[in-house]
Amino acid sequence: MNDVTARRGVDGGRSSPASRTTQLVHARSRSAIEAGLLNPPVHRASTILYDTVEDYIGRHSRLYDGVIYGLYGTETAFALAAAIAELERGHQTVITSSGTAAISLSLSAFLKAGDHLLVIDTAYRSTRRFCEEVLASYGVDVTYFPPDIGGAIDALIRPNTRMAFLETPGSLTFELADIGAITAVTRARGIVTALDNTWATPLLFRPIEHGVDISIAAATKYLSGHSDVMLGAMTAATEEIYKRLKDTAARWGNSASPDDCYLVHRGLRTLDVRLERHQRSALELIGWFEKQPEVRRLLYPALPSDPGHDIWKRDFNGASGLFGVSLEPMSASERAAFFNGLELFKMGASWGGFESLMVPAWPPPVRSCSPVDEGDLIRVHAGLESVGDLIGDLEAAFERLRAHLNAAKA
Ligand SMILES: *Cc1c(COP(=O)(O)O)cnc(C)c1O
Repeated sequence: MNDVTARRGVDGGRSSPASRTTQLVHARSRSAIEAGLLNPPVHRASTILYDTVEDYIGRHSRLYDGVIYGLYGTETAFALAAAIAELERGHQTVITSSGTAAISLSLSAFLKAGDHLLVIDTAYRSTRRFCEEVLASYGVDVTYFPPDIGGAIDALIRPNTRMAFLETPGSLTFELADIGAITAVTRARGIVTALDNTWATPLLFRPIEHGVDISIAAATKYLSGHSDVMLGAMTAATEEIYKRLKDTAARWGNSASPDDCYLVHRGLRTLDVRLERHQRSALELIGWFEKQPEVRRLLYPALPSDPGHDIWKRDFNGASGLFGVSLEPMSASERAAFFNGLELFKMGASWGGFESLMVPAWPPPVRSCSPVDEGDLIRVHAGLESVGDLIGDLEAAFERLRAHLNAAKA
Protein backbone atom coordinates (compact mmCIF):
# COMPACT_ATOMS: atom_id res chain seq x y z
CA MET A 1 0.00 0.00 0.00
CA ASN A 2 1.28 3.46 -0.82
CA ASP A 3 1.54 6.06 1.89
CA VAL A 4 0.87 9.49 0.50
CA THR A 5 1.16 11.52 3.69
CA ALA A 6 3.99 14.04 4.18
CA ARG A 7 3.68 15.17 0.64
CA ARG A 8 3.34 18.90 1.21
CA GLY A 9 5.70 21.66 0.35
CA VAL A 10 8.34 22.40 -2.19
CA ASP A 11 10.41 19.29 -2.83
CA GLY A 12 8.12 17.26 -0.68
CA GLY A 13 8.45 18.72 2.76
CA ARG A 14 10.67 21.78 3.12
CA SER A 15 7.92 24.34 3.61
CA SER A 16 9.92 27.34 2.45
CA PRO A 17 8.01 30.54 1.67
CA ALA A 18 8.93 30.18 -2.01
CA SER A 19 7.26 32.58 -4.42
CA ARG A 20 4.29 31.10 -6.20
CA THR A 21 6.19 30.96 -9.50
CA THR A 22 9.02 28.98 -7.96
CA GLN A 23 6.58 26.79 -6.12
CA LEU A 24 4.71 25.92 -9.32
CA VAL A 25 7.90 25.06 -11.14
CA HIS A 26 9.69 23.16 -8.37
CA ALA A 27 6.91 21.36 -6.50
CA ARG A 28 7.44 17.60 -6.67
CA SER A 29 5.16 14.97 -5.24
CA ARG A 30 6.61 12.29 -2.98
CA SER A 31 5.89 9.73 -5.67
CA ALA A 32 7.95 11.79 -8.15
CA ILE A 33 10.87 12.16 -5.73
CA GLU A 34 10.88 8.44 -4.95
CA ALA A 35 10.94 7.60 -8.62
CA GLY A 36 13.60 10.22 -9.40
CA LEU A 37 11.20 12.14 -11.62
CA LEU A 38 10.26 15.79 -11.94
CA ASN A 39 6.64 14.97 -12.56
CA PRO A 40 4.30 12.55 -10.78
CA PRO A 41 4.11 9.07 -12.33
CA VAL A 42 0.77 8.20 -13.91
CA HIS A 43 -0.54 5.31 -11.86
CA ARG A 44 -3.47 3.61 -13.52
CA ALA A 45 -5.20 1.14 -11.24
CA SER A 46 -8.47 -0.23 -9.99
CA THR A 47 -7.05 -2.96 -7.72
CA ILE A 48 -4.43 -2.04 -5.15
CA LEU A 49 -2.54 -4.97 -3.63
CA TYR A 50 -1.87 -5.53 0.09
CA ASP A 51 0.92 -7.59 1.61
CA THR A 52 -0.96 -8.78 4.67
CA VAL A 53 -4.53 -9.66 5.49
CA GLU A 54 -4.40 -7.12 8.32
CA ASP A 55 -3.59 -4.33 5.86
CA TYR A 56 -6.39 -5.49 3.58
CA ILE A 57 -8.99 -5.57 6.34
CA GLY A 58 -7.91 -2.14 7.64
CA ARG A 59 -7.64 -0.48 4.26
CA HIS A 60 -10.60 1.89 4.59
CA SER A 61 -8.95 3.71 7.48
CA ARG A 62 -6.55 5.03 4.82
CA LEU A 63 -9.21 6.56 2.57
CA TYR A 64 -8.02 10.09 3.34
CA ASP A 65 -4.29 9.74 2.92
CA GLY A 66 -3.51 6.44 1.25
CA VAL A 67 -4.06 4.70 -2.06
CA ILE A 68 -6.58 1.96 -1.33
CA TYR A 69 -8.70 1.58 -4.45
CA GLY A 70 -8.59 3.24 -7.86
CA LEU A 71 -11.92 4.99 -7.38
CA TYR A 72 -10.54 7.12 -4.53
CA GLY A 73 -7.46 8.20 -6.45
CA THR A 74 -3.99 6.80 -7.04
CA GLU A 75 -0.71 8.63 -6.39
CA THR A 76 -1.37 10.75 -9.47
CA ALA A 77 -4.56 12.25 -8.04
CA PHE A 78 -3.02 12.69 -4.58
CA ALA A 79 -0.04 14.53 -6.10
CA LEU A 80 -2.34 16.96 -7.89
CA ALA A 81 -4.49 17.35 -4.77
CA ALA A 82 -1.42 18.26 -2.71
CA ALA A 83 -0.24 20.79 -5.30
CA ILE A 84 -3.64 22.51 -5.41
CA ALA A 85 -4.00 22.44 -1.61
CA GLU A 86 -0.63 24.16 -1.34
CA LEU A 87 -1.66 26.93 -3.75
CA GLU A 88 -5.00 27.40 -1.98
CA ARG A 89 -3.32 27.36 1.48
CA GLY A 90 -5.88 24.76 2.43
CA HIS A 91 -5.71 21.58 4.50
CA GLN A 92 -6.17 19.19 1.58
CA THR A 93 -7.96 18.86 -1.78
CA VAL A 94 -10.33 16.29 -3.28
CA ILE A 95 -10.05 15.92 -7.07
CA THR A 96 -13.36 15.33 -8.90
CA SER A 97 -14.37 14.32 -12.40
CA SER A 98 -15.42 17.88 -13.38
CA GLY A 99 -15.92 21.35 -11.95
CA THR A 100 -19.65 20.68 -11.91
CA ALA A 101 -19.06 17.58 -9.76
CA ALA A 102 -16.96 19.63 -7.32
CA ILE A 103 -19.89 22.03 -6.92
CA SER A 104 -22.61 19.39 -6.50
CA LEU A 105 -20.47 17.27 -4.14
CA SER A 106 -19.56 20.26 -1.95
CA LEU A 107 -23.25 21.05 -1.56
CA SER A 108 -24.23 17.39 -1.07
CA ALA A 109 -21.62 16.98 1.66
CA PHE A 110 -23.32 19.34 4.09
CA LEU A 111 -27.01 19.60 3.14
CA LYS A 112 -29.91 17.35 4.09
CA ALA A 113 -33.70 17.54 3.89
CA GLY A 114 -35.05 20.45 5.91
CA ASP A 115 -31.89 22.55 5.58
CA HIS A 116 -31.74 26.06 4.17
CA LEU A 117 -29.08 27.11 1.64
CA LEU A 118 -28.03 30.66 0.70
CA VAL A 119 -26.72 31.04 -2.87
CA ILE A 120 -25.17 34.10 -4.48
CA ASP A 121 -27.47 35.32 -7.26
CA THR A 122 -24.62 35.54 -9.78
CA ALA A 123 -23.65 31.85 -9.50
CA TYR A 124 -22.78 29.77 -12.56
CA ARG A 125 -25.90 28.51 -14.30
CA SER A 126 -25.30 24.81 -13.57
CA THR A 127 -24.90 25.64 -9.87
CA ARG A 128 -28.35 27.25 -9.85
CA ARG A 129 -29.77 24.30 -11.75
CA PHE A 130 -28.35 21.82 -9.23
CA CYS A 131 -29.98 23.83 -6.43
CA GLU A 132 -33.33 24.08 -8.20
CA GLU A 133 -33.55 20.68 -9.87
CA VAL A 134 -31.77 18.42 -7.39
CA LEU A 135 -31.48 20.02 -3.96
CA ALA A 136 -35.05 21.35 -4.03
CA SER A 137 -36.38 17.85 -4.77
CA TYR A 138 -34.33 16.53 -1.83
CA GLY A 139 -36.06 18.99 0.50
CA VAL A 140 -33.45 21.75 0.71
CA ASP A 141 -34.76 25.34 0.71
CA VAL A 142 -32.78 27.78 -1.43
CA THR A 143 -32.60 31.59 -1.10
CA TYR A 144 -30.59 33.74 -3.51
CA PHE A 145 -28.83 36.87 -2.31
CA PRO A 146 -27.32 39.77 -4.29
CA PRO A 147 -23.51 39.85 -4.69
CA ASP A 148 -23.18 43.20 -2.88
CA ILE A 149 -24.85 41.90 0.29
CA GLY A 150 -21.79 42.02 2.56
CA GLY A 151 -22.59 41.69 6.27
CA ALA A 152 -26.31 42.18 5.58
CA ILE A 153 -26.42 38.44 4.80
CA ASP A 154 -27.08 38.12 8.53
CA ALA A 155 -30.75 39.08 7.96
CA LEU A 156 -31.27 36.08 5.62
CA ILE A 157 -30.02 33.48 8.05
CA ARG A 158 -32.65 31.16 9.51
CA PRO A 159 -32.28 28.65 12.32
CA ASN A 160 -31.92 25.88 9.69
CA THR A 161 -29.45 27.72 7.41
CA ARG A 162 -26.60 25.25 6.96
CA MET A 163 -24.58 26.53 4.05
CA ALA A 164 -23.80 29.55 1.84
CA PHE A 165 -22.55 29.14 -1.73
CA LEU A 166 -20.46 31.94 -3.25
CA GLU A 167 -18.85 32.74 -6.57
CA THR A 168 -16.79 35.82 -7.31
CA PRO A 169 -16.69 37.49 -9.74
CA GLY A 170 -20.24 36.65 -10.85
CA SER A 171 -20.80 34.29 -13.76
CA LEU A 172 -21.17 36.25 -17.06
CA THR A 173 -21.71 39.57 -15.21
CA PHE A 174 -18.46 39.76 -13.17
CA GLU A 175 -19.71 41.46 -9.98
CA LEU A 176 -17.35 41.14 -7.03
CA ALA A 177 -18.60 40.18 -3.58
CA ASP A 178 -17.02 41.26 -0.30
CA ILE A 179 -16.14 37.74 0.83
CA GLY A 180 -14.56 38.76 4.13
CA ALA A 181 -17.69 40.67 5.17
CA ILE A 182 -19.88 37.65 4.32
CA THR A 183 -17.71 35.03 6.05
CA ALA A 184 -17.38 37.18 9.18
CA VAL A 185 -21.12 36.57 9.58
CA THR A 186 -21.32 32.95 8.38
CA ARG A 187 -18.42 31.89 10.64
CA ALA A 188 -20.05 33.47 13.68
CA ARG A 189 -23.32 31.70 12.84
CA GLY A 190 -21.76 28.28 12.17
CA ILE A 191 -22.63 28.22 8.47
CA VAL A 192 -20.36 26.35 6.04
CA THR A 193 -19.26 28.35 2.97
CA ALA A 194 -18.11 27.11 -0.44
CA LEU A 195 -16.78 29.43 -3.15
CA ASP A 196 -16.40 28.79 -6.87
CA ASN A 197 -12.96 30.30 -7.53
CA THR A 198 -12.60 29.24 -11.17
CA TRP A 199 -12.14 32.75 -12.61
CA ALA A 200 -9.28 33.81 -10.34
CA THR A 201 -7.57 30.48 -9.61
CA PRO A 202 -5.70 30.28 -6.27
CA LEU A 203 -2.89 32.36 -7.77
CA LEU A 204 -5.06 35.46 -7.92
CA PHE A 205 -7.47 34.90 -5.01
CA ARG A 206 -7.32 32.52 -2.07
CA PRO A 207 -10.81 32.10 -0.61
CA ILE A 208 -9.64 30.16 2.46
CA GLU A 209 -7.58 33.17 3.55
CA HIS A 210 -10.85 35.12 3.44
CA GLY A 211 -12.70 32.81 5.78
CA VAL A 212 -14.20 30.38 3.22
CA ASP A 213 -14.39 26.67 4.15
CA ILE A 214 -14.27 25.09 0.67
CA SER A 215 -12.58 26.58 -2.39
CA ILE A 216 -13.83 25.08 -5.65
CA ALA A 217 -12.06 25.06 -9.01
CA ALA A 218 -13.21 23.91 -12.39
CA ALA A 219 -9.70 22.67 -13.22
CA THR A 220 -11.09 22.23 -16.74
CA LYS A 221 -10.38 25.95 -17.19
CA TYR A 222 -7.12 27.71 -16.25
CA LEU A 223 -5.49 25.00 -14.14
CA SER A 224 -5.48 22.70 -17.15
CA GLY A 225 -5.13 25.53 -19.64
CA HIS A 226 -5.23 23.42 -22.78
CA SER A 227 -8.92 22.74 -23.44
CA ASP A 228 -8.45 18.98 -23.38
CA VAL A 229 -9.51 17.90 -19.88
CA MET A 230 -12.55 17.83 -17.60
CA LEU A 231 -11.58 17.99 -13.91
CA GLY A 232 -12.58 19.68 -10.67
CA ALA A 233 -11.12 20.33 -7.23
CA MET A 234 -12.58 20.94 -3.77
CA THR A 235 -10.06 22.31 -1.31
CA ALA A 236 -10.98 22.17 2.37
CA ALA A 237 -9.87 24.64 5.01
CA THR A 238 -9.75 21.98 7.74
CA GLU A 239 -9.19 18.26 8.17
CA GLU A 240 -12.78 17.75 9.28
CA ILE A 241 -14.18 19.34 6.13
CA TYR A 242 -11.66 17.49 3.95
CA LYS A 243 -12.74 14.13 5.36
CA ARG A 244 -16.36 14.96 4.79
CA LEU A 245 -15.70 15.94 1.17
CA LYS A 246 -13.60 12.83 0.57
CA ASP A 247 -16.35 10.62 2.07
CA THR A 248 -19.00 12.31 -0.04
CA ALA A 249 -17.04 11.89 -3.29
CA ALA A 250 -16.53 8.21 -2.35
CA ARG A 251 -20.24 7.64 -1.60
CA TRP A 252 -21.32 9.22 -4.90
CA GLY A 253 -18.67 7.21 -6.74
CA ASN A 254 -16.96 10.25 -8.18
CA SER A 255 -13.52 9.56 -9.60
CA ALA A 256 -10.95 11.40 -11.71
CA SER A 257 -8.85 9.73 -14.40
CA PRO A 258 -5.12 9.57 -13.54
CA ASP A 259 -4.28 10.75 -17.06
CA ASP A 260 -6.43 13.84 -16.61
CA CYS A 261 -4.87 14.49 -13.20
CA TYR A 262 -1.46 14.30 -14.84
CA LEU A 263 -2.47 16.77 -17.56
CA VAL A 264 -3.77 19.29 -15.04
CA HIS A 265 -0.62 18.90 -12.93
CA ARG A 266 1.40 19.63 -16.03
CA GLY A 267 -0.79 22.65 -16.73
CA LEU A 268 -0.04 24.02 -13.26
CA ARG A 269 3.64 24.44 -14.13
CA THR A 270 2.83 27.26 -16.51
CA LEU A 271 -0.24 28.69 -14.76
CA ASP A 272 1.54 31.80 -13.55
CA VAL A 273 3.01 32.78 -16.92
CA ARG A 274 -0.21 31.96 -18.73
CA LEU A 275 -2.31 34.07 -16.36
CA GLU A 276 0.06 37.01 -16.73
CA ARG A 277 -0.38 36.90 -20.48
CA HIS A 278 -4.16 36.33 -20.29
CA GLN A 279 -4.46 39.40 -18.06
CA ARG A 280 -2.25 41.62 -20.20
CA SER A 281 -4.10 40.68 -23.39
CA ALA A 282 -7.49 41.12 -21.71
CA LEU A 283 -6.54 44.65 -20.65
CA GLU A 284 -5.34 45.51 -24.16
CA LEU A 285 -8.50 44.12 -25.76
CA ILE A 286 -10.62 46.04 -23.24
CA GLY A 287 -8.75 49.24 -24.06
CA TRP A 288 -9.67 48.69 -27.69
CA PHE A 289 -13.32 47.74 -27.00
CA GLU A 290 -13.76 50.90 -24.90
CA LYS A 291 -13.17 53.06 -27.97
CA GLN A 292 -15.94 51.45 -30.06
CA PRO A 293 -19.20 53.43 -30.16
CA GLU A 294 -21.30 50.23 -30.08
CA VAL A 295 -19.83 49.30 -26.68
CA ARG A 296 -21.90 50.37 -23.69
CA ARG A 297 -19.85 48.94 -20.86
CA LEU A 298 -16.97 46.59 -20.03
CA LEU A 299 -17.42 44.09 -17.21
CA TYR A 300 -14.02 43.38 -15.63
CA PRO A 301 -13.12 44.12 -12.02
CA ALA A 302 -9.54 45.14 -12.87
CA LEU A 303 -10.91 48.28 -14.59
CA PRO A 304 -10.76 51.33 -12.30
CA SER A 305 -14.29 52.27 -13.43
CA ASP A 306 -15.71 48.86 -12.41
CA PRO A 307 -18.00 48.88 -9.35
CA GLY A 308 -16.03 45.96 -7.89
CA HIS A 309 -12.62 47.56 -8.43
CA ASP A 310 -11.91 48.51 -4.79
CA ILE A 311 -12.66 45.00 -3.55
CA TRP A 312 -10.59 43.55 -6.38
CA LYS A 313 -7.61 45.76 -5.45
CA ARG A 314 -7.93 44.80 -1.81
CA ASP A 315 -8.43 41.02 -2.22
CA PHE A 316 -6.97 39.87 -5.56
CA ASN A 317 -3.40 39.55 -6.88
CA GLY A 318 -4.47 40.10 -10.46
CA ALA A 319 -7.18 39.38 -13.00
CA SER A 320 -7.59 36.53 -15.45
CA GLY A 321 -8.48 36.76 -19.13
CA LEU A 322 -12.28 36.43 -19.07
CA PHE A 323 -14.50 39.51 -19.28
CA GLY A 324 -17.87 40.76 -20.45
CA VAL A 325 -18.72 43.36 -23.06
CA SER A 326 -22.14 44.97 -23.12
CA LEU A 327 -23.00 46.04 -26.66
CA GLU A 328 -25.96 48.05 -27.92
CA PRO A 329 -28.78 45.54 -28.50
CA MET A 330 -28.31 43.62 -31.77
CA SER A 331 -30.81 41.92 -34.07
CA ALA A 332 -30.25 38.30 -35.05
CA SER A 333 -28.82 39.33 -38.43
CA GLU A 334 -26.52 41.91 -36.85
CA ARG A 335 -25.31 39.27 -34.43
CA ALA A 336 -24.66 36.92 -37.35
CA ALA A 337 -22.68 39.63 -39.19
CA PHE A 338 -20.59 40.23 -36.08
CA PHE A 339 -19.84 36.65 -35.05
CA ASN A 340 -19.96 34.52 -38.17
CA GLY A 341 -16.83 35.86 -39.86
CA LEU A 342 -14.54 35.56 -36.82
CA GLU A 343 -11.26 33.86 -37.62
CA LEU A 344 -9.06 33.84 -34.51
CA PHE A 345 -11.75 34.13 -31.85
CA LYS A 346 -13.52 30.80 -31.69
CA MET A 347 -17.08 30.20 -30.52
CA GLY A 348 -17.63 27.49 -27.94
CA ALA A 349 -18.46 26.90 -24.31
CA SER A 350 -15.77 26.80 -21.62
CA TRP A 351 -12.68 29.06 -21.39
CA GLY A 352 -9.31 29.21 -19.67
CA GLY A 353 -7.43 27.48 -22.49
CA PHE A 354 -4.75 28.85 -24.80
CA GLU A 355 -7.23 29.94 -27.44
CA SER A 356 -9.33 33.09 -27.56
CA LEU A 357 -13.08 32.65 -27.43
CA MET A 358 -15.93 35.08 -27.99
CA VAL A 359 -19.59 34.13 -27.57
CA PRO A 360 -22.90 35.81 -26.86
CA ALA A 361 -23.84 35.29 -23.18
CA TRP A 362 -26.30 32.56 -24.08
CA PRO A 363 -28.40 31.36 -22.39
CA PRO A 364 -28.57 34.84 -20.86
CA PRO A 365 -27.83 35.22 -17.14
CA VAL A 366 -30.67 34.18 -14.82
CA ARG A 367 -31.01 36.41 -11.77
CA SER A 368 -33.52 36.38 -8.91
CA CYS A 369 -32.60 39.51 -6.97
CA SER A 370 -29.89 41.48 -8.78
CA PRO A 371 -30.07 43.64 -11.92
CA VAL A 372 -28.82 42.43 -15.32
CA ASP A 373 -27.35 44.84 -17.85
CA GLU A 374 -29.84 45.77 -20.58
CA GLY A 375 -27.31 45.54 -23.41
CA ASP A 376 -26.36 42.64 -25.63
CA LEU A 377 -23.86 40.82 -23.45
CA ILE A 378 -20.92 38.99 -24.98
CA ARG A 379 -18.21 37.04 -23.18
CA VAL A 380 -14.61 37.22 -24.27
CA HIS A 381 -11.72 34.99 -23.27
CA ALA A 382 -8.37 36.53 -24.14
CA GLY A 383 -6.16 33.64 -25.21
CA LEU A 384 -2.41 33.44 -25.78
CA GLU A 385 -2.31 34.63 -29.41
CA SER A 386 -0.62 37.90 -30.36
CA VAL A 387 -2.98 40.62 -29.17
CA GLY A 388 -2.42 42.64 -32.36
CA ASP A 389 -3.81 39.75 -34.40
CA LEU A 390 -6.79 39.47 -32.05
CA ILE A 391 -7.55 43.18 -32.42
CA GLY A 392 -7.43 42.73 -36.21
CA ASP A 393 -10.11 40.03 -35.90
CA LEU A 394 -12.23 42.36 -33.74
CA GLU A 395 -11.80 45.27 -36.15
CA ALA A 396 -13.11 43.07 -38.94
CA ALA A 397 -16.09 41.98 -36.81
CA PHE A 398 -17.09 45.59 -36.06
CA GLU A 399 -16.59 46.49 -39.74
CA ARG A 400 -19.00 43.68 -40.74
CA LEU A 401 -21.51 44.89 -38.14
CA ARG A 402 -21.29 48.49 -39.38
CA ALA A 403 -21.53 47.47 -43.05
CA HIS A 404 -24.61 45.44 -42.19
CA LEU A 405 -26.20 48.41 -40.38
CA ASN A 406 -25.44 50.75 -43.31
CA ALA A 407 -26.85 48.28 -45.83
CA ALA A 408 -30.03 48.02 -43.75
CA LYS A 409 -30.33 51.84 -43.71
CA ALA A 410 -29.77 52.22 -47.46
C1 LIG B 1 -16.90 25.78 -16.32
C2 LIG B 1 -17.28 26.20 -14.96
C3 LIG B 1 -17.76 25.27 -14.05
C4 LIG B 1 -18.00 23.82 -14.43
O1 LIG B 1 -16.82 23.15 -14.67
P1 LIG B 1 -16.83 21.82 -15.64
O2 LIG B 1 -15.47 21.29 -15.41
O3 LIG B 1 -17.10 22.34 -17.01
O4 LIG B 1 -17.89 20.92 -15.13
C5 LIG B 1 -18.07 25.70 -12.79
N1 LIG B 1 -17.94 26.98 -12.43
C6 LIG B 1 -17.47 27.92 -13.28
C7 LIG B 1 -17.34 29.32 -12.82
C8 LIG B 1 -17.14 27.55 -14.57
O5 LIG B 1 -16.71 28.48 -15.42
